[in-house]
Amino acid sequence: SGKVAIIGAGIGGMSAAIQLAKAGLKVTIFEKNERLGGKLNLLETQGFKFDLGPSILTLPQVFRPLFEDDGRMLEDYVPMRRVDPQWRNFFEDGTVLDLWEKTEDMREELKKLSDSDSAFQDYERFVEYARQQYEVVERGYLREGLDGFWQLIRFYGLNGGREMDWTHSMSGAISKRVRNGYLRDIFGYFIKYVGSSANDSPGFMNLMPYIQLGFGLWYVKGGLYELARAFGRRLEELGVDVRLNTEVVSIDHSNDRVTGIQIKNYAGEVETIAADFVISNMEVIPASERLLKQTSSRLKRLQRFEPACSGIVLHLGLDRVYPQLTHHNFFYSRDQSSHFDRVFHDKKLPDDPTIYLVAPTRSDPSQAPAGCDNVKILPHIPYINNKAPYTYEDCVALKELCLTKLERMGLTDLRKHIVVEDFWTPFDIERQYYSNRGSIYGVVCDRRKNFAFKAPKRSKEYHNLFFVGGSTNPGGGMPMVSLSGQHVARMILEQLQK
Ligand code: FAD
Repeated sequence: SGKVAIIGAGIGGMSAAIQLAKAGLKVTIFEKNERLGGKLNLLETQGFKFDLGPSILTLPQVFRPLFEDDGRMLEDYVPMRRVDPQWRNFFEDGTVLDLWEKTEDMREELKKLSDSDSAFQDYERFVEYARQQYEVVERGYLREGLDGFWQLIRFYGLNGGREMDWTHSMSGAISKRVRNGYLRDIFGYFIKYVGSSANDSPGFMNLMPYIQLGFGLWYVKGGLYELARAFGRRLEELGVDVRLNTEVVSIDHSNDRVTGIQIKNYAGEVETIAADFVISNMEVIPASERLLKQTSSRLKRLQRFEPACSGIVLHLGLDRVYPQLTHHNFFYSRDQSSHFDRVFHDKKLPDDPTIYLVAPTRSDPSQAPAGCDNVKILPHIPYINNKAPYTYEDCVALKELCLTKLERMGLTDLRKHIVVEDFWTPFDIERQYYSNRGSIYGVVCDRRKNFAFKAPKRSKEYHNLFFVGGSTNPGGGMPMVSLSGQHVARMILEQLQK
C-alpha cells in the first residue's frame, strides 16, 4: 500500500519524492524531459553556462529537511553564498539605487536621495510591516500548508486572520507607508517572484521583501542548476526510481480513486503502471485536461486558477563586461502601475517593461569565458491568451525593444557584443514544461480571485491523487513549490496511518 507514482521531476515532485522515500515508500518519478529539475534548467554552450530558469534562491531553510540525514546537511549538498547588494535598480532618470541586506548599508545607500531621512524612515517602517506579514503567513499558510479560505479561518480564527493584510492591495499597502517613488517601485516589483501584479495581490504579499532582507538572497556555487543536481543525488541515495524521457499520457481512475498511470516510454510504447498514490507535478489545469480527460464543466471550475504571467527569456553571451552591472539588476518601467495593468488586465505585451537582468559572473566567474559576460534578460509578459493574442514575431519585436531600452539606459552597444544568443518565448516554455499557457510561476496571486489561494493539493474527485508545484498552494518560486511537495508527502503519510 505504499507505491507512489510522481508525474514530473520539478522541485515540487522531487521534494515529495524525497520525503516519501525517507519514510520507506516505493517512489518512481516519470519525467518527460531528458533531465531533472523542470524549469530549473541549464544550457552550456561555447564556454557559457546559462541557468535557464531560476537565478535567485531565497529561504534556503525550506530545503533543509530534504537534505538533513545521517549527520549530513543542506550545505554538504548545495554550496551557497549570499549575494549583497541584492538588487541594483536603474531608473529612467539616471538614478541608480542598490538594495542591501543590512539596514545600516541601506541607511548609507539612501543618502543618495534628496529626501534621505524620510526615505530611510519609510524604509524601516515598511520592512517592519513586511516582517509582521511574513510571521503571520509563515506560521499558518506556509508551515501548515493551508489550502483554502475555510482552512485559513479554522487555523487563524477570525481575529488571527485579521493580522494578515487583506484589505489593501500590495501596492496600496506600500503607498500607505512609503512616499519615495523609487522605493515604491522597488518594493512593488518583489511581486515578480510569483509572476503577479502588485495592484492585484493582497497586502500580505509584502512579506516578500522581508523574506529576502531578513534571510538573504542566495546563489548556488557553480550555478543554480547545482541545486537540481543535489536533488538528483538525494533521490539516488534514497533509492527513488527516476525514469527520464518518459511522458505520462493518462491517469487511470475508478470511482473515487486513481489506480495508476499510463506512460509513453522512450520507444513510444504505452505502458500501464499501477500505483497506490499518484502525485502530479504537471500543473492542475493541464493535468485535468490531458491526463484525467475531465469534462468541460469540471474544467470550467478550475478556470478561476488563472495562470501567473509568462515572460520572454533571453540568454546572451557577450564578448565584453559591463562594469556597472551587479549580479541582479532591474531596469524599471516609467510607470510601474500601468505596466502591471497592461500585462495583467489588458493582457497586452508591455510597451515599456521593467526588465530583470542577471549577470552571474559577478559572484561566479565560471559562468563565462574570461573577459566575457553571461546575462539573462527577463521581462514579464502575459500568458498565452485570447484577449490580446500575440505571435512569435511579436515576442521578437519585444526583445528588440528591451535591447534598445537597455542600450539607452547605459549598456552601450549591447547588440554589437552578442556572441551567443538563446531566446525563449511563452510558446517554448509551454512546450518544454507543459506549463499552463506558458505560465512561469503557476497560478497568479490575486486577492479578488480565490483570496489569493492557488489550487488545493488534494484532488476533489480522487482521494489518492495529489498535486504539487506552482499551480497549488502556497504557489510559485522554488521554496514555495518545495513546500507544496513536502506538505503532500505529509498528507500521504497521514492518510496511510488512518
Ligand atoms: P516544474 O519545474 O514546471 O516541473 C514540472 C515537471 O513536470 C517538468 O519537468 C515537466 O517536464 C514535467 N512534466 C509535465 N507534464 C508531464 C507529463 N505529462 N509527463 C512527464 N513529465 C511531465 N523561481 C525562483 O525561486 N527564483 C527565481 O529566480 C526564478 N526565476 C525564474 C525564471 C524563469 C525564466 C522561469 C521559467 C522560472 C523562474 N522561477 C524562479 C520559478 C521556478 O522555476 C518555478 O516556480 C519552479 O521551478 C517550478 O517548479 P514545479 O515543481 O512547480 O514545476
